[in-house]
This record gives sequence, C-alpha cells and structure tokens, in this order.
Amino acid sequence: MLDIQKIRADFPILTQKVNGKQLVYFDNGATSQKPKVVIDAITKYYEEINANIHRGVHTLSQLATDAYEVSRGKIQNHINAKFPYEVIFTSGTTHSINAIANGFASILKVGDEVLVSALEHHSNIVPWQMLCEKTGAKLVVIPMNDEGELIISEFDKLLSDKTKVVTVNHISNALGTLNPIKYIIDKAHEVGAAVLIDGAQAVPHLKPDVQELDCDFYVFSGHKICGPTGVGILYGKEEWLRKLPPYQGGGEMIATVSFEKTTYADLPHKFEAGTPNIAGGIVLGTAIDYLNEIGFENIQAYEHELLEYGTKRLLEIEGLKIFGTAKEKTSVISFNIEGIHPYDIGTIIDKLGIAVRTGHHCAQPIMDFYQIPGTIRASFAFYNTKEEIDTFVEAVKKAKMMLS
Ligand SMILES: *Cc1c(COP(=O)(O)O)cnc(C)c1O
Repeated sequence: MLDIQKIRADFPILTQKVNGKQLVYFDNGATSQKPKVVIDAITKYYEEINANIHRGVHTLSQLATDAYEVSRGKIQNHINAKFPYEVIFTSGTTHSINAIANGFASILKVGDEVLVSALEHHSNIVPWQMLCEKTGAKLVVIPMNDEGELIISEFDKLLSDKTKVVTVNHISNALGTLNPIKYIIDKAHEVGAAVLIDGAQAVPHLKPDVQELDCDFYVFSGHKICGPTGVGILYGKEEWLRKLPPYQGGGEMIATVSFEKTTYADLPHKFEAGTPNIAGGIVLGTAIDYLNEIGFENIQAYEHELLEYGTKRLLEIEGLKIFGTAKEKTSVISFNIEGIHPYDIGTIIDKLGIAVRTGHHCAQPIMDFYQIPGTIRASFAFYNTKEEIDTFVEAVKKAKMMLS
C-alpha cells in the first residue's frame, strides 16, 4: 500500500501554513499540487536545454525537440494511443474541446444533432453551443437523475441518425460521478456519431485506454495530474484528425506557404500552430512517470478509502446533504448545509487553513437541476489523509455553529 507520509514529502506546498494554520488542500478537482520532481524538471529544462523546437539544427533545439517528442511518446503509452501523432499538445482541456468543436463546423449541417450530457463542465458545453449557432445543428441534452447519474435509457432514446457528435465527461467535476462511457461510445458508434470524452477529472484517478474505449477523442489538462498549467492533451483517432481542418493557423502547422495557397503540415503538427508550452509538454511526461510509479491501482484504492471515510464523517453533521451519490464515483464530495450559503462556510474554513471549492464548479446546469446556488466541494487526492478529513469536519462543524 501507499506510504502517505513519504508521498507527502514529495509535495513542498503541503507543509505551508495558510492563515497561520497548517494547509489542508481539498481543492484537487480545480488543480493538483506539484511534486518536487516536476518543479525541478521545469527548472532543469530552462537551465539546460531551453530552445525552440522542430526548427533549429543546433544542438539545444534538437535536445529540446527530442525531450518534447519523448514526452509525447510517454503520453501515447500512458493512454494507449495507437500512434504518437494521435497525441496533440494543447494548452488544456478547454483548448482541446474548442479545437474539435471548431473542426466540426465544416461537417455539421442544419438539423444535425450534438448530444451533450447534463453533467458537463462549461468547457464541454459552450464550444458546442457556439458550433450549433454557427451551423444550425441542435444541442440535445442527456438528462441526469437525483443521484447525479446520467439516465441511460433516455440517452438510448435520444440517439438517431441525426446524432453526429456525442460529448460526455468520463468523471463529473462537480459531483464525482463516473459515467458509463464504454456503453455510450459503443451506442453512439451504432448511429455513426463521433464521441468526445472529457477526461479532465478522470486522468488524476485512472489510466484510460483509448483503444479499448474506442473513443474518437479524449481530452485532458496537465495541471490536474501533477503537471504544470498551460499544457493539455487532445487525443484523436488518426482518421478524424485527418478529416478535421486545423483549429489555428500559423508557424509549425504548415508544409508550404504562399499567398496563393498554404498546405498543412502532417499530424500532429497540423494542430500545433505556434511555439507551444515546451517546458510544460516535457514536464507533463515527468508528472505521468511520477503517477505511474505510485500506481493508479494504489491511488484508486486509497482515494476510495478517503471517499468512504469523508462521506461517513460529513454525514455526522446534522442538516448536511451530499449532492452526487452515484454508485460509481470518485473522491469528490459536494455538499450543502441547510440554511447556510456555501460561500460563507468556504470563507470561514479558509481562515482555518482549509482549501475547498465553493460555487457552481463551472457546471451551472447541475446546480439548476438541484435548484441550489452552488455547493461546497471537497475533492481528495492520493496525498490527502484521514487526519486532514477530521480537521476539515471539525472546521465545518465550527462554521455551522457560527452561522446558524
Ligand atoms: C477542469 C475541467 C475542465 C477545464 O479544464 P481547463 O484546464 O480549465 O481547460 C473541463 N472539464 C472538466 C470535467 C474539468 O474538470
């Protein structure tokens, strides 16, 4: 099993005091903390091999290019993509989804449908809405139930030959629900629709296998898996990446340019216009190595313990209601206390050194479904402990006393 104290020692920030109290960081759903190996790798890149990639013949440029491509290979292996050029570096999940939604503008027609789930992050709603406005296609919502699960019988009914794209998250950031994506992908393929999986909340907890899933696109951000901000991944099946037009024009993505006609570079460069976040791309590989050393099975088993313990402890508090009670869920607990605004609790426990998210979690439609302004969300990572949960529960009790 995991040696949590040893793991915690890898994360310099965890020893910080915040407002004079020992930091308890339960906002991992928003971004993860970074281990020393990742922080050091960023410095090492800038101190030793910083140069622009894919351009120079000089030694540093080649070293930087090699390191960048090695990292692409690590990510390919990690998600089991068939080819390295199916792995595109982007600035994050939001960028990845926009690139795909934008590409579909050349394919969709009036009357076509895009199916999006009720559990999505705004990043996986708004780009599709923009696409529908542009093309005259219709955005159709797969509904959810009170437990925070998608209603799959309704999804089955919504599918038709009009469905061109189905887009769902692997795990909901607001509620922690693990969606039955394999079923969704297979069913969508029966009607010929392409499927995008927003894996932003899944990759911190599990290792996706894109070939086994058979999804057409799988996207995620580096910063939620112990990597830096400003780098993310867009996995796409080769045939789709060839079919879709590039998202941005510029350097790096071209084969030849003249004022009459420009031809695009081959994959993956077609989707990688401009100088990327080179350090970020390289170090994302370091972060993935770090997580694989700990092992995703260990991470999952431990986080499940934290989820069960946290759920049990929080439910001791009278008037506390948990939103998102799906049978399959990860270590996210979204809750409210009757009669108290989530923001007020968040503010008080921050004074006690505890970092949680309060608000709508970029998923307003879910809050509308429950008819609440927002929730308090505690999201646990493998470096959190049961002792921290105890501190957190005591702080919530104290806040409740002060506010009621
Ligand atoms: C965080 C998150 C996003 C957006 O990621 P960015 O890194 O902000 O681009 C999208 N979807 C889900 C499910 C998320 O958790």
